[in-house]
Amino acid sequence: MPDVIADPETDPRATYAVDPARVRALTAGVVASGEPMTTHTPMTGAPLAVLPTSTATDVGVAVDRARAAQRRWAPVPLERRARLLLDVHDLVLERQGELLDLVQLESGKARSHAFEEVADVAIVCRYYARRGPAHLAPQRHLGVFPVLTRSTEHHRPKGVVGIVSPWNYPLSLAVTDALPALLAGNAVVLRPDPQGTLTALAAVRLLVEAGFPDDLVQVALGPGDPTGAAVVDRADYVCFTGSTATGRTVAAAAGKRLVGASLELGGKNTVYVADDADLRRAVPGVLRACFASAGQLCVSAERLVVHEAVADEFLGRFLDAVSGIRLSTGLHWDADMGSLVGPAQLERVLGHVDDAVAKGATVLTGGRARPDVGPYVVEPTVLDGVTSAMACRDEETFGPVVAVYRVPDDDAAVALANDTEYGLNASVWTRDVARGRALAARIEAGTVNVNEGYAAAWGSIGSPMGGMKASGVGRRHGREGILKYTEAQNVSVQGLVNIADVPGLAGEAYARTLTGALRAMRAARLP
Ligand code: NAD
Repeated sequence: MPDVIADPETDPRATYAVDPARVRALTAGVVASGEPMTTHTPMTGAPLAVLPTSTATDVGVAVDRARAAQRRWAPVPLERRARLLLDVHDLVLERQGELLDLVQLESGKARSHAFEEVADVAIVCRYYARRGPAHLAPQRHLGVFPVLTRSTEHHRPKGVVGIVSPWNYPLSLAVTDALPALLAGNAVVLRPDPQGTLTALAAVRLLVEAGFPDDLVQVALGPGDPTGAAVVDRADYVCFTGSTATGRTVAAAAGKRLVGASLELGGKNTVYVADDADLRRAVPGVLRACFASAGQLCVSAERLVVHEAVADEFLGRFLDAVSGIRLSTGLHWDADMGSLVGPAQLERVLGHVDDAVAKGATVLTGGRARPDVGPYVVEPTVLDGVTSAMACRDEETFGPVVAVYRVPDDDAAVALANDTEYGLNASVWTRDVARGRALAARIEAGTVNVNEGYAAAWGSIGSPMGGMKASGVGRRHGREGILKYTEAQNVSVQGLVNIADVPGLAGEAYARTLTGALRAMRAARLP
């Protein structure tokens, strides 16, 4: 059974309510005339803050303000915009204490998992500050008639980018998608999940402190519908992170208006421990893959596929490690796992466990709520004997529950990994990197980590990241992660003579000359 190392009942900071004056300072400037909403901290279940909310009309005002700010922002030299990202990088690392507290208080996660978000913001700032300008730089292309036609690809900002972010990574997902949008010359209207609002507001304050103009990032506060939907209905481009079900609604709304959308959605991710895996590395790596942020991470693993040759040995060590996980709802570093975000998530996670057990699955470890640690804490849970009759076989649990499947070979592992509507992340553990790469090529997932659970792909942000199949549309990170916020514009300049209007060449003679020119271009191996 996991150790309890801090009991919120006896913790003097256990109510965690945020001072109303601090809430007022954080929400100053937010257009919000709606009914106030109260958020609660998962640490204790007690009220955390009373926050204003934005009506659909307020969102319209925020979009107008953002649009006006964007017109002033777009001409600011790219080098200056990039420098601001480096200032955000430094501020986020410097002020991480406050951010970590807010992330923990709003999401319930352990501090080390909250730190992943701070690190993520810093990595994204550094990458786009250094590489963003090159991604955005105009590119010359061969014209239709070499020399005579000069063609250049430009990337113009979309205008106002609407970002709807979820609660599970309240810092990272509120900010990291906004940063490349801003660098590309856009304004942003951000609607953070109510359960991540304070974190998002604190992060936006840091952007302003770094030097981003005041009105450039507008925050809209309130529930997904109507506030998030109002952002989707007004933005020039939509970046949505959340479940596949809501992603379909958002995509339909964006499609109706013919604006682009990137959708980062759910997953049912597999970790595969091959027969040649280094178990000393695999055990702690798989532990993190399954239980980081209490499994409320889109890329965390809910299917643990183990080659039968090493299954007994691996599982023996793995179950020992799982039982050693220290649970806590305290704002300190000495815990391995925190809480679920709230009652709905608790009900969903326990519902999946109960359903599996009722239909014949075995709980190898965990499986229980731990109200003695926090109202929404669930033990890290490993199930065996899960079948397709059980909800947790195919549905995303989004909690600290993983099901074990033994397989005889790689083919069976790949078949199981691909037997899902989702295609977000996978993790393969093998000493043979070539085998890992070959397996990756067969797995239908937007990221595949070899000898890592998720952080290798997530943190390597030169490569794009996102979901295949029902896990999403579009990518964040890398070139794609910034160019999606731009309209490509082809500016082509025709020199000397007009196309199809060459003096002395008309009709068939023109066609014959052009045919010869096309053959010559092919022979010259031009693209
Ligand atoms: P959700 O779809 O219920 O909500 C996501 C966000 O959308 C919330 O903030 C919600 O308020 C908002 N929303 C709801 N209806 C809306 C509407 N009509 N228009 C606009 N916004 C609306 O998901 P959730 O349960 O809050 O978050 C967990 C899900 O997010 C999981 O499925 C997880 O896998 C996914 N997720 C994916 C990624 C990724 O990068 N692929 C990252 C994190 C989370």
